Amino acid sequence: MNERTLCIIKPDAVGKNLAGKILAHIQEAGLRPVALRMLRLTQAQAEGFYAVHRERPFFADLVRFMTSGPVIAAVLEGEDAIQRYRKLMGATDPGKAEAGTLRKLYAASTQSNAVHGSDAPETARVEVAYFFSSIDQVG
Ligand code: GDP
Repeated sequence: MNERTLCIIKPDAVGKNLAGKILAHIQEAGLRPVALRMLRLTQAQAEGFYAVHRERPFFADLVRFMTSGPVIAAVLEGEDAIQRYRKLMGATDPGKAEAGTLRKLYAASTQSNAVHGSDAPETARVEVAYFFSSIDQVG
């Protein structure tokens, strides 16, 4: 099924100038960016995005990290895009990520793990709409 999913290149990866390499991996994997923007999240925006993790002990650190510098958000389109992009990202903890995955290649730690990807169709819909209106998305 043709799907759209939200990708975020996180502040650690943007700060290390890895965005171009990460987008190249994404495109080589056959996922097509249909919207793209750079922004620096406010505290309220980061808290809203990760609201599902509000009760977790790492929530404050996660929000601090996600607001520490600019991010690049993209909508990726393709057949089975949500699961294909999750597989390309690799496990949350880069130490457990498979070889060749974005997190294995580019992430430093469980928190500073280079990329975000939606985990299911409903979260993808909500997360895409958090960053992009329909007019921002081509095709
Ligand atoms: P994801 O779907 O693989 O991104 O993982 P989760 O939805 O479980 O967590 C969201 C984000 O919170 C992760 O990508 C990490 O940046 C961060 N995170 C997850 N677990 C931990 C943790 O145990 N400690 C810290 N500091 N950050 C975490």
